[in-house]
Amino acid sequence: MSVHRELVCLLVVEVTFVSILVYVYLTSHQIVNHNTLIHKQGHFNLSVKEGNISPNDLRRETGQPCVFPERSPSLVPCQQNNLSEKRRILNESLPWIDLDATLNASMTLLPGGYHQPLGCASPQRLAIIIPYRDREVNLKILLNNLHRVLQKQQAEYAIFVVEQENGTPFNRGLIKNIGYVEAKALCHFDCFTFQDVDLVPESERNTYWCGARALHHSRELDILKYRIFYKYHFGGVITFNDTLFSTVNGYSNLYFTWGGEDDDLFQRLLEKKMPYEYSKYPRYTAMTHKNDPHHTKEGRTLYGKRHVRFKNDGLNSMGRLYRLISVDYKPLYTRIYVSVNQTEVLTQLKHYGIRL
Ligand code: UDP
Ligand code: MN
Repeated sequence: MSVHRELVCLLVVEVTFVSILVYVYLTSHQIVNHNTLIHKQGHFNLSVKEGNISPNDLRRETGQPCVFPERSPSLVPCQQNNLSEKRRILNESLPWIDLDATLNASMTLLPGGYHQPLGCASPQRLAIIIPYRDREVNLKILLNNLHRVLQKQQAEYAIFVVEQENGTPFNRGLIKNIGYVEAKALCHFDCFTFQDVDLVPESERNTYWCGARALHHSRELDILKYRIFYKYHFGGVITFNDTLFSTVNGYSNLYFTWGGEDDDLFQRLLEKKMPYEYSKYPRYTAMTHKNDPHHTKEGRTLYGKRHVRFKNDGLNSMGRLYRLISVDYKPLYTRIYVSVNQTEVLTQLKHYGIRL
């Protein structure tokens, strides 16, 4: 009898010990592979691993789930607490490997630079679109700051860096429109922020958030001693909700190198009598970079003809203007790499009587 009891006791002790071992293993595994676990819960069907995906596999068919995880409807709404008015800007350009490691250690980022707040639901999903070519130092510093600000604000977001292939002059309006279209092809987004790569927000209270109005964030720059650039300035960093951006037909696709696409967009808002507003915390630090040569003459002619273009130059005329080369889910952002068809842009320009 007592031998039997001893055996039972031994068995109980052993089972408990094994259970503890299994529990410890599972918990530590969960901590180490936190990101992977979130992937499995969501519909992250394309991007479970980082890396290139062939363009044919990229597009979400209508009705297909988002490539990023869906938010859980059962969570409580997020609160934006303890946002500081003036933040410390991190201006060191770290090697990518260190930057990836630093941000991934302190944050719950998924491949493609996607983030979902933990333990609460953000009511909006935001796409940050950065037009980009050859500004690597700016990009690293911006990402190091922007991820921190957005996570402090409890935003649910993905960062898209839309890079134009070398060989054609940079076309900012078209590149930003491509960001809008291609981000939507990957997931449903409520808000779109178009963010220059060289502008770092100075306040956490400058919320990247969309309402009924178009929002100009970067109204005051350190390099201009925080004076307003000009009254109708609407460049640098802006946020639109989806309906507003499609109502104005997006940006013009026809501004090569000259910076007039932002003034053109502002005129589109006025023309359509769409509401707009300014951030209450509008301060940004502008990083230095080499300058692109500007072609103001053609840009001005184009701007002068804006009223005849608005309806047909924008989101509804991009089809033949670019080719998607690749989509790459990097640790801190989704890279959308495109080539611009300059001949087609010139053909459209000619239609408006403009030759470059
Ligand atoms: N840009 C870029 N590479 C270029 C030109 C422009 O990445 O060669 C992007 C980048 O996001 C930059 C934005 O377009 O912040 C605005 O261009 P830029 O800074 O040259 O214009 P600025 O407003 O300083 O005159
Ligand atoms: Mn600049």
